[in-house]
Amino acid sequence: MTTIASPLTRQQQPLEGDAQAWWTRWAAQVRAWLHAQGLQARDTVVVLPLAAHLPLARSAWAEGADGWLPRMGTVATFAAEAGGRLRGEGLLPTGDGSMDVLAARALLLREEWARAWRRRDRRGFELGVQRVLEAAQAWAAQLAARPPADREAYVAQMRAVLGAVAGVLARERMLALMGLEWAARIVEHRTDVLWAWRPVACVLVGGTGDDAFVSAWAGGLAGQGTALLRLDAVPRDDVARLRLAACTDFEDEAQRAAAELIVQARPGLPVALVAQDRELVRRVRALLERSGLRVADETGWKLSTTRAGSALMAWLRASHQRATAQQLLDALHSGWAGREGLDTDAWRDLEAWLARQRRAGIWLAGDDEAGAEAVDLEAAALDWWQAARRTTAALRWRGALTLEQALQRLQGLLQQLGSWTQLVADEAGAQVLAAVRLLPRAGEPAELAAAWTGVAATTELDADAFADWVDACLEQASYAPSAPPSPQVLITPPARAVLRPFSAIVWPGADDEHLYVPEPPMSWLGGRLLDELQLPGRTQMAERSWAALRLGLAGAAVWLSWRHADGERLLQPAGLLQRWAVESGLGDLSALPVAGDARVRRSLPAAATTAPRPSLPEQAVARLLPRRLSASAYEDLRACPYRFHARTLLGLREEDEVEEEVSKRDYGTWLHEVLKRFHEGERGAAPEGDLERLQAAAREVSAESGWDDEQSGAADFLLFAAAFERMAPLYLDWWRKQRAAGVDVRRMEAPFEAPLPAFDLQVQPVMLQGRIDRLDRLGGTTPSQPAWRIVDYKTRSATRLQALVRQPTEDTQMAFYAAALELAGLDGSIAASYLALEDRAVEEVVHPEVQETASALLAGLASDLSRIAAGAEMPALGEGEACDWCAARGLCRRDHWEGQA
Ligand code: SF4
Repeated sequence: MTTIASPLTRQQQPLEGDAQAWWTRWAAQVRAWLHAQGLQARDTVVVLPLAAHLPLARSAWAEGADGWLPRMGTVATFAAEAGGRLRGEGLLPTGDGSMDVLAARALLLREEWARAWRRRDRRGFELGVQRVLEAAQAWAAQLAARPPADREAYVAQMRAVLGAVAGVLARERMLALMGLEWAARIVEHRTDVLWAWRPVACVLVGGTGDDAFVSAWAGGLAGQGTALLRLDAVPRDDVARLRLAACTDFEDEAQRAAAELIVQARPGLPVALVAQDRELVRRVRALLERSGLRVADETGWKLSTTRAGSALMAWLRASHQRATAQQLLDALHSGWAGREGLDTDAWRDLEAWLARQRRAGIWLAGDDEAGAEAVDLEAAALDWWQAARRTTAALRWRGALTLEQALQRLQGLLQQLGSWTQLVADEAGAQVLAAVRLLPRAGEPAELAAAWTGVAATTELDADAFADWVDACLEQASYAPSAPPSPQVLITPPARAVLRPFSAIVWPGADDEHLYVPEPPMSWLGGRLLDELQLPGRTQMAERSWAALRLGLAGAAVWLSWRHADGERLLQPAGLLQRWAVESGLGDLSALPVAGDARVRRSLPAAATTAPRPSLPEQAVARLLPRRLSASAYEDLRACPYRFHARTLLGLREEDEVEEEVSKRDYGTWLHEVLKRFHEGERGAAPEGDLERLQAAAREVSAESGWDDEQSGAADFLLFAAAFERMAPLYLDWWRKQRAAGVDVRRMEAPFEAPLPAFDLQVQPVMLQGRIDRLDRLGGTTPSQPAWRIVDYKTRSATRLQALVRQPTEDTQMAFYAAALELAGLDGSIAASYLALEDRAVEEVVHPEVQETASALLAGLASDLSRIAAGAEMPALGEGEACDWCAARGLCRRDHWEGQA
């Protein structure tokens, strides 16, 4: 490593509590050194560790104003001012994620072994791409830190060390070598302009560990006669300024940190919130939102986690050739437009249809008009659905497109969805668009913008690779929200908290899981090889972390916290903190002052509430009274009018969570689809082949659901598959007897819609609607020998169904279906049965005299709706089983009613 030669002066300046005062002393010390050397400030350059130090250093110097200001900046700002740029052969490692990842992938794919790797293990290959990228950036930093004339020899030396490409770490060596060759294409680094500098005097501000470029460059300056002062901040440990809070868990720690910030925030200097544990700090930030404090954030968070980023990815996934209905649902729920043309009813219709298709369907399967026509949706929802298929088709290209063409299509999609304008107007949305280069990037160096034009025009990607690229861009870029004026809280990473004035520092996450020594670049090469390559290893990283921590703790009054546990995992205070306790003379962390709990506790008297009894205001009748009514909505009305009010009139729904495991509900959906396909395909087929056809239908639906593939995590479907194998012959036994008796399946999964009569309040017609699992033709001509039979499949026990039909008026579902079919003009008498499909038995449970129940239902329904439209109350009944699994339980506050235990 290059060392700084004479004339070099090393000095130190203690930091103890007040960073502002440190800069004042620093300015006086530099001035004294210049005076002693007979040098002038105007001939001096000052190299600072961070751009954030610039105003501090300048104002400290101005305090003792006596003439010229030295030239101050960071290595990056000096290089930019001097016109430094990146130049070299072909695509270079630029440090820009949107281009580098493409270049790294292209480099790898030139090699046959890498192409074979990709075919064999796509994820492993993508990790390889990341490693080449990491290696290239690490080597580029090493090369930049050497005078240009020394680089060729250095590359040759590293090439020789990495050249042994067999045996242990062979692949890692190849990836590192690839990164080296890529970095070696750079013939001019941005900082190269500084090698030619010859300032009379130079002051380096340090204290947090050596920067490879600064050390080497300063060595060169000193060798050329520049007078050099290296002035390091050295912390003076003061245990009295530290308080340590031991919290129980994540939420406790977040709440205590937020309360501490609220107490510490005052006019003047901001309080620093050190972003050691990013997740915890996001929670603290959310807790601060209601406090009214002005919070600035220098850390940002991944663009992929912003609402705009997730919406963009959701639409990309929903546009994929094998997109599931759930992915379309996710895109619609992402909140960024896409719902134009869908009124509330159409939206509910579409949402319900998508929810039914969640497991068993792929919404774009058979991407053609025939597929579109097969969807039985309301006209408005169907129009929207077909338009969505057409709009998203732009992103389902076959073969390859240039990145430029692919981006034009993405922009077109966003414009057609109506999201483009909203994204551009949104702060995070605009950054998302800039990250994927749909908007220009402010302040981008000209050579990068030019390189991008070439990359976009020449890089070809298939649709999958394009989606991966967008995802990678959003993963690598950070969202930086604009700062409010005079922030009271400043969120900043640990390395940026040093030598900056704060009224106090709140530093949560000081546990062994989050306050740790980061891995050195290319740590996957192993410590021994890193040593051989003379690259920084864990020891150097540990010393750098240690130096930064000590300076960070010395800068103001510090509130530190750690938590005993993260879920099931037990945590300890960080090892670095324990070292600090020993080296500061404290001996043990337990001797540190314990932080009090700044949360304010308030006791509130328990307030009992009563069962709600809402009614529909006259002016809201036309808007809220449903135009369409399903059997389950009617069931709600019967079970609890308040639930009907919440779910049907107000349209409130639980968040539809994406479940990874296959649930019994998913199995039910799957089974319905299997039986549908079996019966649709049986016309003309020989009965002997029934079992084989039923099993083939099961395999087909499983394949479409992705449940035939153990890799996709559908192992939890195996239990259901085994139950189906046992149930299938039982079902076919039942069905053979039915067929022998002349039963004919006429419709499966049949939608229906019929107007409710005797409901005329001058409001609007109400349609009964739904879907019948199956309609059988029985051929009878009297109520005792009906012409039709409604069949509803159930995966629950026959015993429960028998209990349900024992009082037919309580069974609303079958009565609702029968009423709707009669109103729709079905000719002939109707019977209705549940079919309990269990692996031990298949049993038919008849709803007796369903048409009588249907007539009673129609009369009751018309009367109920008329009363509601006239302003009748819809009380929460709170009775029996209805409340047990009710999604509106939190709304009606059933558990807090007066007199409830
Ligand atoms: S919890 Fe009970 S009372 Fe409350 S809305 Fe649901 S069914 Fe009605």
